Amino acid sequence: MASKTIIANNRFFIFAILLLILGVTVVWRLFAPAAYAPASGDEIVLHENEGVYNVNNQMEFLVDKDGSRTLPDIQSPQVHAQFQPASGKSAFGLTAGTYWIRTAVINQSPLEQWIIRLNNSVIEQFDMYIIHDQSESPMNSQIVEKTDEHFYSYYFQLPTNDSMTIYMRVVINGSMIIPIELMDNNTFLGKLKNEYIFFGIYYGFVLLMAAYMLSLYAFNRMSVYLYYSLYIICFSISQLVWNGLLQQFLGADSQALASLLRLFGNHESIDYFFFNLALWFGVLFLNKILQIEVYAPRMMIVYRALIIMSPIVVAASLFHLPGYEILVILYESLLAILLVISTFWCMYRGNLTARYVVLAAIPFLGLAAPTILNTYSLMQESFLTHYGFQFGSIAEFLMFSIALSYQIRQARLDKENAVQEMNLNEQIQQARNELLQNISHDIRTPLTIVQGGIQAMIHGIEIEPDGNDKMLKSMYGEVLQINTFIDQMFELSLLKQTHESSVLESLPFAGWISSQTDSLQSIIQLAGHQMKCSFSVAPQAVAKIHAHQIKRVLTNLVNNACKFSPAGSTIHLSASSNREHVLVCVRDEGRGIAAKHLDSIFNRAYKVDPADPKSGSGLGLAIAKEIIGLHGGTIWVESEPGSGSRFYFKLPIDTITA
Ligand code: ADP
Repeated sequence: MASKTIIANNRFFIFAILLLILGVTVVWRLFAPAAYAPASGDEIVLHENEGVYNVNNQMEFLVDKDGSRTLPDIQSPQVHAQFQPASGKSAFGLTAGTYWIRTAVINQSPLEQWIIRLNNSVIEQFDMYIIHDQSESPMNSQIVEKTDEHFYSYYFQLPTNDSMTIYMRVVINGSMIIPIELMDNNTFLGKLKNEYIFFGIYYGFVLLMAAYMLSLYAFNRMSVYLYYSLYIICFSISQLVWNGLLQQFLGADSQALASLLRLFGNHESIDYFFFNLALWFGVLFLNKILQIEVYAPRMMIVYRALIIMSPIVVAASLFHLPGYEILVILYESLLAILLVISTFWCMYRGNLTARYVVLAAIPFLGLAAPTILNTYSLMQESFLTHYGFQFGSIAEFLMFSIALSYQIRQARLDKENAVQEMNLNEQIQQARNELLQNISHDIRTPLTIVQGGIQAMIHGIEIEPDGNDKMLKSMYGEVLQINTFIDQMFELSLLKQTHESSVLESLPFAGWISSQTDSLQSIIQLAGHQMKCSFSVAPQAVAKIHAHQIKRVLTNLVNNACKFSPAGSTIHLSASSNREHVLVCVRDEGRGIAAKHLDSIFNRAYKVDPADPKSGSGLGLAIAKEIIGLHGGTIWVESEPGSGSRFYFKLPIDTITA
């Protein structure tokens, strides 16, 4: 069954892997961060239609260890000198704390409304102060105004040809990622529009996937679907926090967000909490889908350890326990290593679903890697580091949904096969019981007669003169019947063997069937009937047959026709041929057979009327069917009660001689 799926095809699988790697490489090349272009000056010069300015190229930063410094402190000449150039850098590693940022801007464009934006939403605080170079005093807050989009951003006014110094204060509890952008209002609105379209598509897709998995769970009650839907849901909530959408939906100053922050401590912990919860469900899901217990039982111990570790990590992120970041890193690394080893191990042991895991992991890890590298400041901020996770997860969700639907199909097929097998077993059992009943009846009836006769003779009972003689003759007849029955059963059981070990003759069928008429005619005439023959077999039609066995079939059919027809009636024997078959028909004008028996009369020991003294062993037609079957032919009957029966058999033509 499994070999029918496309994924089982090794070439396709390798091709799919290469295609995915190529896809990931293309995405990397398209969206990887542009190499840092050294700034042409110390300040950002604003022009019209220049799009987005990367502030990190021209900004300076200062680490404020205990977060106690104020704006006037920062502006003092001593501190001023301590600022260092960021030189395009936007990720500063796991250095939680407060950073001060300074940049200078000159506006040489006619546009006056500008926006500064920090592309990170898992931060604690982001404040912005602008100092007009002319006035040297902090601007009032009416000019610097916070927007309510999903990232932290501020509007500010900068008249044409004016310049200013911007100070920013960023407080982050996790990884110090501070990519800052500057743009005019139109660029900002365009960017926002694109982002919301992207989010709409992404979260719409995610909702669909989660609902699909939940519905599968509702119908199948298989925990694997529940785990996967929970994984999708938790992963998406962590993405919501990461994209700043949760804060935006709840409202930056809302009670709900405030209570969440009270519970979790900070934004990053909410993100971590849901991300780790997702990993927990991911571990449970992988354990089920990979069937680790079956394919890699030795790995179960590590899986169990991970399953135990998962809630601890989740709790640690919930309660923001000290050092939980280290625990998370340990846990995630262990998970990644285990994921790789167990997937390959299961795949090696023949688990096809593991191939889907490999195909899902390539885009997911390939596109998530930039975000992870960015967290540890090994890669600078770009579209890829920010949205790669999301693109990767779409690819992963798709792959797993294919894998899961493949599993459902597989389960359904297995179930159907099991049901079919059960039905077949039942049928076989039933046929066997019927056969045994028929056989025991066929042997027991004559045996009872013989037993009764012997008993009567022992007790010296003689009902009529010469009774003993008659009784002995009848007993002899019954014994003969048992003997015939046993002989026929034996013959039937050996037919296949005999057929296989004997050499078949290639006989021109027309000549052969004509040669059989004499002996058939004597059978028919002896039974008090007449025979009519009409043969139209092409003289060149040659059939490869076991002549003695086919003769046996003909005799059985003719004998039956005689037995079940009134004396003096005609038995018709006909034969014809086409390019593929020879067809033989034995027709009688006898009692016929009711429709309900037509299928069964070829079964072993089946008789339409077992009480009818004309019925024999019930094996004649079974033998005929077996013989014709062994010759690659078919046998069937057409009949209606009262209007005679037509028994046909068809044999394949071996060659047509010229
Ligand atoms: P038997 O030894 O009983 O004839 P067969 O296998 O040859 O066994 O036939 C099975 C049953 O099919 C018969 O018992 C009879 O009831 C029915 N049958 C076979 N041939 C005919 C026929 N030509 N006309 C009517 N019934 C027939």
